[in-house]
Amino acid sequence: MTAPLIDPFLRPISYLRVSVTDRCDFRCVYCMSENMTFLPKKELLTLEELDRLCSTFIRLGVEKLRITGGEPLVRRDILTFFRSMSRHLDSGALKELTLTTNGSQLEKFATDLAAAGVRRINVSLDTLDEGKFAQITRWGRLPQVLRGIDAAQAAGMRVKINTVALKGFNEDELFTLAEWCAARGMDLTWIEVMPMGDIGNESRLDQYWRLTDLRARLAERYRLTDLAERSGGPARYVRVEETGQKIGFITPLSHNFCESCNRVRLTCTGELFMCLGQEDNADLRAPLRAHPGDDAPLEAAIRAAISHKPKGHDFDYSRQVVDGKMSRHMSHTGG
Ligand code: SAM
Ligand code: SF4
Repeated sequence: MTAPLIDPFLRPISYLRVSVTDRCDFRCVYCMSENMTFLPKKELLTLEELDRLCSTFIRLGVEKLRITGGEPLVRRDILTFFRSMSRHLDSGALKELTLTTNGSQLEKFATDLAAAGVRRINVSLDTLDEGKFAQITRWGRLPQVLRGIDAAQAAGMRVKINTVALKGFNEDELFTLAEWCAARGMDLTWIEVMPMGDIGNESRLDQYWRLTDLRARLAERYRLTDLAERSGGPARYVRVEETGQKIGFITPLSHNFCESCNRVRLTCTGELFMCLGQEDNADLRAPLRAHPGDDAPLEAAIRAAISHKPKGHDFDYSRQVVDGKMSRHMSHTGG
């Protein structure tokens, strides 16, 4: 039997997030600058190489695969990749195949994704106001995303909404968003804005809305019951007794939960990041390409990388300066 992947802090690694492209059809202000330089195509892993890498991780015990980006659904032929990964669902080795998307292409892809075995998806949506949506995504259009969410639900997929908490931007939509999600049977997770990459003039400290404050405001209107449930990740959940929905909080700044981290992240060029908030990474493309018919060197490189997984990130705004900032954008590592 293959030994599972265990890091130096005895955390089993069972979750791989894969950024399949650094490109995107939106330019969210907290994620990208308006003018981004994207990687030349030749730098990218091919879909076959991504398949081989993901299949190797699954052989080593990864049970959950999340496809992300950039916008994963703008990668050419991405459905081929999903269809191919579904063989691991059929074999039982993979428990969940899922994606995080901005929703812009869901209307086109929802049925095929569901047919490939995708049962739940995360859709990122920061506002229900058309004007504000255009402002925050720079290039996005809200009706297109709403049609995408409709299509995903019609195809039978469970949708969870991910919302970045942004001071002065969506504070006034706290209850509107919760009630809209509840009415559609969707859970909602709030995320604190992280210092990932240079984004032009926006200041991270001005954007930062602590989720402890957000939660306190929710509690003024709703009865919130803490749930013991963990996704093995950084989110903590409450049940809203009035609506029955779950609301999650991802609080890398106000409270980090790195001790339960079970994940690593692969970029579209084959770098493996052991932590979203650290620069250390391992190149898996070299062993992949150097040994086309032999996965042993690749497996060894993965095990060596996991043996360096750091304890946690160092993001910190508490001294009113941005500490622990990463030079790479979220779209590079995959959020
Ligand atoms: N394009 C897809 C999407 O938007 O869902 C997938 C990639 S995107 C980088 C993944 C998630 O990262 C999104 O929910 C986005 O809101 C979040 N994100 C991007 N930049 C962030 C930042 N600086 N801090 C916190 N979350 C961020
Ligand atoms: Fe694109 Fe997602 Fe980043 Fe927005 S958050 S720019 S949709 S990758």
